[in-house]
Amino acid sequence: MDTHNTSELRREDSRHHLHPFTDTKELNEKGCRIITKADGIYIYDADGHKILDAMAGLWCVNIGYGRQELVDAAAGQMQELPYYNNFFKTAHPPAIKLAKKLTELAPDHINHVFFTGSGSESNDTVVRMVRRYWQLQGKPEKTVIIGRQNGYHGSTVAGASLGGMAPMHQQGGPMLPDIEHIAQPYWFGEGREMDPQEFGLLAASSLEKKIQQLGVERVAAFIAEPVQGAGGVIIPPASYWPEIQRICDQHGILLIADEVICGFGRLGRWFGSQHFDIKPDLMPIAKGLSSGYLPIGGVLVGDRVADLLIDEGGEFYHGFTYSGHPSCAAVALRNIELLEQERVLEHVRDIAAPYFARRWAELASHPLVGEARSLGLLGALELVADKVTLSRFEPGIGGLCRDICFETGIVMRSVGETMVVSPPLVITEEEIDQLISLARASLDATA
Ligand code: PLP
Repeated sequence: MDTHNTSELRREDSRHHLHPFTDTKELNEKGCRIITKADGIYIYDADGHKILDAMAGLWCVNIGYGRQELVDAAAGQMQELPYYNNFFKTAHPPAIKLAKKLTELAPDHINHVFFTGSGSESNDTVVRMVRRYWQLQGKPEKTVIIGRQNGYHGSTVAGASLGGMAPMHQQGGPMLPDIEHIAQPYWFGEGREMDPQEFGLLAASSLEKKIQQLGVERVAAFIAEPVQGAGGVIIPPASYWPEIQRICDQHGILLIADEVICGFGRLGRWFGSQHFDIKPDLMPIAKGLSSGYLPIGGVLVGDRVADLLIDEGGEFYHGFTYSGHPSCAAVALRNIELLEQERVLEHVRDIAAPYFARRWAELASHPLVGEARSLGLLGALELVADKVTLSRFEPGIGGLCRDICFETGIVMRSVGETMVVSPPLVITEEEIDQLISLARASLDATA
């Protein structure tokens, strides 16, 4: 692509394209960076820069870029049956095979999947399923779903309502009714003066308090990401999840683990909830399901919910034109095969995550870093103005650091004053070394 085309593209972008989660006026002052190709863990822009994508796109390109097998799977399926739906009494081989495969990978108590087109649609589906479940149980007053501050469950009205992102709520007008939020288990941000395990229990106890405050007869479910991703890679202390599970069990409320980021190997297991040894009733999935090559999501539905919906629910008036889209399902199936054949989860567990943890922790010595934490292939750096008092910078430091990262040759994302990474799972030790050097150089340039 020549320079003329690139500047023309940039101009057209400013004129016509409203980017997601972007201040368009600010973007238009400089113009966007145009990404033209990708391979392995690298993306390339139209100006000829090679950039290490430490975010795997948006936490999704788990298998890495440039996999011909996925191109072939899409092309083959598009020739044979590019589209058909699964409404009423039809189905097609890719959706059926993918459903079987997913339920084999899922814990034993999960034997069904409802397909969607994205993580947001998966969480919309969850809201409808949860409410239908309690209606069929003869408890229609159980409508409240409890999420967490700073949780992220998507951008549709239901997704944004379940999520606890204050700016989304402020801009969105009235959100869905009957959604409540509790504290997040953010030890560095909110609990540093306490022992982390005590803090984990304290954060979990806010669920119990909320249930008591609302009255258990109104509470339908609790939803959370195993590790809060978009909120800043908030890794809960080990005490947190067992206590959440206990509270859900004790009160009989449904537990929803949003696996959109943690699923498909990010923590070295098929699902993040397996890492924390919890037993969710519902698991929304997307992103790594197809490694982002084509859009597809779903909800893995535990027997407790599925059996009732099937046995007593009659028709469930819910579904999307692209639920289980054959081309997307074929790519997802091939993606899972590749993850299995190439033992990618074992690579994460045994090689990449331990090495990444060691190297990432070294960044804690940088003058700008107050904490460097990681789990699996998720990492976060807390930027601080003073390493001793851990006082923060003025707002804006994260965005500045993110822009500097891009200039330096690495994609990292900023969440307020937290820098996060989530690289492709196929990353090698040598590439992790590069990631650390680029992150360090970007921090140096930000300081
Ligand atoms: N749930 C979680 C945990 C996510 O991180 C995201 C997206 O980042 C979503 C849901 C929404 O997924 P999508 O953007 O595919 O709608």
